[in-house]
Amino acid sequence: MVTPFPRTAARILSRGAFKTRAFSMTRARSVDFTHAVIGAGAVGLAVARQLAARTGTSTILIERHGAVGTETSSRNSEVIHAGLYYGPDTLKTKLCIRGRQMLYALCEAQGIPFLRTKKWIIAQDAVQFAELEALHEFTRSIDVPTQFLPRSEITTQEPDVRAGAGVLESPTTGIVDSHALMAYLEGSFDERGGDQVLHTVVEKIEPLSSSNGKKSAAGSGYAITTRSRDGAGGQDTITAETLINCAGLAAVEVSNMLLPAERHRQAYFAKGSYFSYSASHPRPKTLLYPAPVPGLGGLGTHLTLDMAGRIRFGPDVEWVTSPNDLTPNPARLAAAIEVIKTYLPTIDPAAIDLDYCGIRPKLGRTSGTYGKDGRGFADFYIKEEEGFTGFVNLLGIESPGLTSALAIAEYVDEILYGEKASV
Ligand SMILES: Cc1cc2nc3c(=O)[nH]c(=O)nc-3n(C[C@H](O)[C@H](O)[C@H](O)COP(=O)(O)OP(=O)(O)OC[C@H]3O[C@@H](n4cnc5c(N)ncnc54)[C@H](O)[C@@H]3O)c2cc1C
Repeated sequence: MVTPFPRTAARILSRGAFKTRAFSMTRARSVDFTHAVIGAGAVGLAVARQLAARTGTSTILIERHGAVGTETSSRNSEVIHAGLYYGPDTLKTKLCIRGRQMLYALCEAQGIPFLRTKKWIIAQDAVQFAELEALHEFTRSIDVPTQFLPRSEITTQEPDVRAGAGVLESPTTGIVDSHALMAYLEGSFDERGGDQVLHTVVEKIEPLSSSNGKKSAAGSGYAITTRSRDGAGGQDTITAETLINCAGLAAVEVSNMLLPAERHRQAYFAKGSYFSYSASHPRPKTLLYPAPVPGLGGLGTHLTLDMAGRIRFGPDVEWVTSPNDLTPNPARLAAAIEVIKTYLPTIDPAAIDLDYCGIRPKLGRTSGTYGKDGRGFADFYIKEEEGFTGFVNLLGIESPGLTSALAIAEYVDEILYGEKASV
């Protein structure tokens, strides 16, 4: 439920509720909330819900738009990724695998629409096939199932697919209704007693003064200055013992509000355009991906399905300077059609049209996948910032962020409270 801002000024914070770290035992107890989470996308919702489960704490979720999940979390492929592409010992691999397992379990338990569609990664030549072999070897090492399909199975299952050199199948890949997922997370957060404020933009963050009256970054909590976006209110200040930055495309901007100038970062944005398909043929039932291209910002223009069975192609990769550059670019259509035709040659190009865009939050012109040696690859950045106790920064939460959301939430909880999450 959305509450008038701010509903809860100060809650009684219980002592001794945590096994390892207990924020309210050691800090000023005049703060409004134990946890403030900035950003109500899939990740912020999952994090806020997780933290709200801690007995005797209070959690506020701050979102600048009038509804949850209106940015990247509703502009993606809705794929439940298996965890194939992100290399050994990375957060992306660990959190994707754990997040996928948690997500399937949650969907099953709560009736959130999802499908175990499977996914094919398609090689057209020997070079691409070598990429698939490397991928297969890697997925065996992390215990994620993949298998090469015999030619007969390829033609029987998906007769319209061209796979010149072979297909690697990922049986644990699926799709989820991201809106239903976020609606569930929002409701569950509310049930756990969380507070949510919409139309509220975080504009400034300062460390609270320590008990000796000096401004300190050592962990007395944070003062978060917000401005109402609906025109009704002005500025307000929320104070919290801990602050979790889940601001997605604006996460670097939020981080720079608090960290000193020498630790400021620059945000990079990799836009992905999607393309709709209006013809009735071909109609594959499996997600289709071209073989990964080392160094690419994304996974290549692939075919995914939504819960209604509609085909969409994309996303491609286009580096842009603005996080608001969300108009599909007609100049991208021809190149996308060329890629699609490599694995789906009978596609009707006239039925492919521009659809929508999403933008990947990046910390550099980095690759979304690990490739053979990890060159250019960027992992999720999820850390409690040194010298800023209780401030957990989540940067570069691109794909597989939706899949990983529940595991990211567990991981943030572990960072704050020191209990081992099982990733
Ligand atoms: C093209 C594309 C395809 C993808 N496909 C997949 C996929 O198939 N599977 C998968 O697992 N992942 C996928 N992802 C990744 C996934 O969508 C993201 O990792 C995930 O949605 C990130 O969620 P988030 O909550 O971190 O960010 P967001 O959804 O962007 O939420 C951040 C929120 O913070 C709010 N905010 C920002 N600044 C402020 C402020 N100052 N004050 C208040 N609120 C603020 C924003 O309004 C926003 O609602 C894809 C991403 C893209 C771009």
